[in-house]
Amino acid sequence: MHVLPWFDYLNGLNLGSWQVWPWVLWALATPVQFWAGWPFYKSGIPVLRHGTANMHTLVALGSTVAYGYSAVITIIGTGVYFDTAALIIGLILLGRFLEARARGRTSETIRRLIGLQPNTARVVRDGQEIEVPVQDLVAGDVVAVRPGERIPTDGEVLEGSSAVDESMLTGESMPVDKTPGLPVYGATLNRTGFFQFRVTRIGQETALAQIIRLVEEAQGSRAPIQRLADRVASVFVPAVGGVAVAAFLFWLLLGPDPALTYALLTLVAILIIACPCALGLATPTAIIVGTGKGAERGILIRSAQALETAHRVDTVVLDKTGTLTEGRPVVTDIVPAEAGVERELLRLAASVEYGSEHPLATAIVEEANRRGASLADVSDFEALPGQGVTGYADGKLVLLGSPALLAAQGIPLDSLSEALAKLASEGKTPVTVARDGVALGSIGLADAAKPDSRESVARLQEMGLEVVMLTGDNRQTARHIADSLGIARVEAETLPSDKVEVVRRLQADGKVVAMVGDGINDAPALVQADVGLAMGAGTDVAMESADVTLMGNDVGSVITTLRLSRQTMRAIKQNLFWAFFYNIMLIPVAAGGFLNPVLAALAMAFSSVTVVSNSLRLRGAGV
Ligand code: ADP
Ligand code: MG
Repeated sequence: MHVLPWFDYLNGLNLGSWQVWPWVLWALATPVQFWAGWPFYKSGIPVLRHGTANMHTLVALGSTVAYGYSAVITIIGTGVYFDTAALIIGLILLGRFLEARARGRTSETIRRLIGLQPNTARVVRDGQEIEVPVQDLVAGDVVAVRPGERIPTDGEVLEGSSAVDESMLTGESMPVDKTPGLPVYGATLNRTGFFQFRVTRIGQETALAQIIRLVEEAQGSRAPIQRLADRVASVFVPAVGGVAVAAFLFWLLLGPDPALTYALLTLVAILIIACPCALGLATPTAIIVGTGKGAERGILIRSAQALETAHRVDTVVLDKTGTLTEGRPVVTDIVPAEAGVERELLRLAASVEYGSEHPLATAIVEEANRRGASLADVSDFEALPGQGVTGYADGKLVLLGSPALLAAQGIPLDSLSEALAKLASEGKTPVTVARDGVALGSIGLADAAKPDSRESVARLQEMGLEVVMLTGDNRQTARHIADSLGIARVEAETLPSDKVEVVRRLQADGKVVAMVGDGINDAPALVQADVGLAMGAGTDVAMESADVTLMGNDVGSVITTLRLSRQTMRAIKQNLFWAFFYNIMLIPVAAGGFLNPVLAALAMAFSSVTVVSNSLRLRGAGV
């Protein structure tokens, strides 16, 4: 009578004369046990000294018990289970192999990005084009690019013009027009024109190399949920060890004959089934696929932590200038405080703004140039972040910036109040200008909303997120723009330090905040937010402070990021389920003596493969 279903199979292996077979099997099993199985001993046994155990411990112990028992039996002379020991190691290694192959596919993105880099470039020397390997390029080289070719490295267009497909960097499929002075990036695809560019960055410095580095770092980082999984495993493994010992004793004392055989095989089966191998794969594989998928869409996620946190976000704070709007304001109105000072107003403003990197400053200087104004020399220039600028021009103290800045300095703006109200009601930003403490007038600037802003805001709201607009701009202007974009909550006239405060306040209310910005003035708020997202066209400071860089520069990428995070977390949770499912379902079966150790090894291998395949499924899912 056989109580245990697998016993038949095991008996079946005791072919022929036991005097010969066991020794042959022993000889065959030994290299499998100690050579193929060596990695399990190496990583599984030393940890026992620290009173802990990992999945390798279980494999090593399980197979060793089967092997050792068989060795003893061979010498004594009854049935042996070398095949069990060898099959355990064999099947788990097979699972590993399948898993490694699937895992290789999870990081395809990086390989694809690296593969984009052309090998050669056509350098123009003495009017002649010569083909050189890309690694021989140096900064300053002039390189010619023809239609249909990949641009070999980063640089600046010297002559000619073209449309370039930068989708591999930005995720944006519309080609970008390139004219002299504009930057081009290595690995992007030249579509239509012929042009020459001067090399500015090579090798590890290029935008592509930096993207690859960022993605690699993110893929190697650990998500917080993984710590949870590890904690569960650290309780799970010893607990199952306890069950194994209990089942062993039970079968030894109460089992049918041969009791020791039943007891040992049950012990082996439990040790194998308890091994949460797939657990170690559940989080990293999904993170690798998630970050890789982001990179393909121009979304560079810095860390696994950011990708995880993003799925809990319930409030999205959007900077106005450069995030919701193009960030390229143009001068639309010049309103002098008294007749005749119009030219002087623009000239002085542009002279002082010349020292500022602010988009408003650039627009004012451009307008002055367009009108042929000759700028004055400026001394004691000072930028007041989020407020304006000041400096001496023509020996006079010029102060310009937000109406609030001038008002705070006690400069009366009564003569301008009507004009300021009108500008604001048109959604224009007023920059007020004072000379020696007297208001000269105001310059109105308009900054168009990005084409996708309105729709993206609506979609964020549909996803159940609260959208807040944050800006240093004038309150009325901000209100007007927010209304046109469908945003209810506006925080205006915020200084850079206030921006952090706004984020902090939302967090104090229990909100999980994503902050999206582009400027230096957004950097502290990007750091403070639970997830900081920087526009790729913004300042480097903003990008360094952010958890995520949006190369595509549109609010739509924020949606993609949040969706991607939700999908990745869902996959991780499914993975954790599958990783534990087999173990938990099969432990009682194993303890009851109904599980062949070989089938236990098969189930384990299967659960690892299931988990990796589930992560890979993320690749295909749309975001
Ligand atoms: P945002 O939050 O919209 O990115 P900032 O914080 O950079 O804007 O600036 C807030 C306000 O401060 C601007 O709307 C403008 O009124 C004033 N300001 C800041 N820098 C300058 C500058 N260089 N020239 C004129 N005004 C400025
Ligand atoms: Mg900004």
